[in-house]
Amino acid sequence: MTANHKDQVLAALRACGVREEELGGDLTSRTPLTGDSLLSVPRASREDVAEAIEAADSAFKQWRDVPAPVRGNVVKRWGELLTEHKRDLAILVQAEAGKSMSEAEGEVQEMIDICDFAVGQSRMLYGKTMPSERPGHRLMETWHPIGVVGVISAFNFPVAVYSWNTAIALVCGNTVVWKPSEMCVLSALGAHSLLARAVSDCDAPADIHRLVLADRTAGEAIVDDPRVALVSATGSTRMGKEIAPRVAQRFGRYLLELGGNNAAIVTPSADLDLALRGIVFAAAGTAGQRCTTLRRLLVHNSIADSLVPRIADAYGTLTIGDPRDESVLVGPLVNETSFNAMQQALQDAEAQGGEILCGGKRVLADEFPNAFYVQPAIVKMPAQTEVVQAETFAPILYVMTYENFDEAIEMHNAVPQGLSSAIFTQDQSEAERFLASSGSDCGIANVNIGTSGAEIGGAFGGEKETGGGRESGSDAWKAYMRRATNTINYSGELPLAQGVKFL
Ligand code: NAD
Repeated sequence: MTANHKDQVLAALRACGVREEELGGDLTSRTPLTGDSLLSVPRASREDVAEAIEAADSAFKQWRDVPAPVRGNVVKRWGELLTEHKRDLAILVQAEAGKSMSEAEGEVQEMIDICDFAVGQSRMLYGKTMPSERPGHRLMETWHPIGVVGVISAFNFPVAVYSWNTAIALVCGNTVVWKPSEMCVLSALGAHSLLARAVSDCDAPADIHRLVLADRTAGEAIVDDPRVALVSATGSTRMGKEIAPRVAQRFGRYLLELGGNNAAIVTPSADLDLALRGIVFAAAGTAGQRCTTLRRLLVHNSIADSLVPRIADAYGTLTIGDPRDESVLVGPLVNETSFNAMQQALQDAEAQGGEILCGGKRVLADEFPNAFYVQPAIVKMPAQTEVVQAETFAPILYVMTYENFDEAIEMHNAVPQGLSSAIFTQDQSEAERFLASSGSDCGIANVNIGTSGAEIGGAFGGEKETGGGRESGSDAWKAYMRRATNTINYSGELPLAQGVKFL
């Protein structure tokens, strides 16, 4: 099985255009499916990172002057190649992130979608024209590229989040240096090689995108380099807290996409069949390893006894195992550290008054002694204690009840993170109150949909300890550009603003 898997991964890498000389080294990729090592890649040193930034900085000086719709051609070609190699890249994503094939292909589809979006955006980098207060003057804003964008990404979406940043950054006229998760270096090589082919097919400068494969030290080198105009970092809140002050110290820009602690409120009027499906996918899908995973369920007292046992029953039907079997819905945790963190959280929850209603145990340990498959857990909590306040990156759903709607909103917002949120209700007034300024304080607020599975058309990101950044669709492109305000005087006079007289 393992030898076949390695062969399959190698074939997928080759199909994506990865060359032999890009493999071999001391940074080894391990698959969470079995815990076995797959292939190794050379580890980038700090000097390699500096060289990549230098090359991307120099390519920027050419790329910024290429018309934006022409820059869009590279991203268009990348989207075509991603479409052609969707399965190949999904095989790499599945091997390293442990997702089902449907979710791994969904991740690549997200890349294709953002390419489409970015190509359109390349013709819509609009600036405003405002009425000037002075006669014979024109006042307007123009948008310009900023330079090298350093992209640091997490293991759980090894390629999609990178593509959100890269597709938009490139059409905006920036160049990109990418430091992917050290756990997903093969997926990174595959995605990067397809972009390299698109760049070459379009005769664009080769160094508009560079890849550095290493652990966090390479991330730190990007963070500290003054030639990196924007650091776009996705990962834990711990990582964001380390990065933000270092970038701010050198007056660089940062865009942070950090941890979530997402909740759903279920009100008495909710369609419980629909809520059930939304909750189970959001809480147990991807084995709880999405930033938008549902971690807290706030259920009205009157329906808790009917809804919660149904969720537990549905959990009992979930197929857990190696997701290369297409009937499997829940794959492994990424590694033993993640498993231990889950066990610790469950112990802490019990110590803080919680009751484990189902799940939490390791399964398939005999078959996969080096991989960590777990039953998704549901834990009834008396309150949002310390353990509920933290993001444990594993499938634990904490269930709490509420009595009135205001209390539900208060509980909803009473955590440090602010990424995604949902309400299940048929009451329009409750839905509107949830979406109002005094409702959910998150970057994403949904009605009758779970917390996970966002579309690329909307801006993606969250508030508070989630970092405040926005990526992907809507006007998120503005974070990758600088704005200039221009005043043009065609009057032949020199009237000063605010009626000031001088000379
Ligand atoms: P992580 O924080 O351990 O690592 C993320 C990336 O940051 C890796 O590439 C890592 O090498 C790098 N890194 C870590 N510390 C660094 C430092 N001090 N300086 C520079 N780089 C550093 O996260 P992970 O375990 O890979 O991913 C899971 C986390 O990511 C979860 O908290 C999840 O919620 C979060 N996440 C957030 C989003 C979002 O959009 N909000 C999306 C995906 C994942």
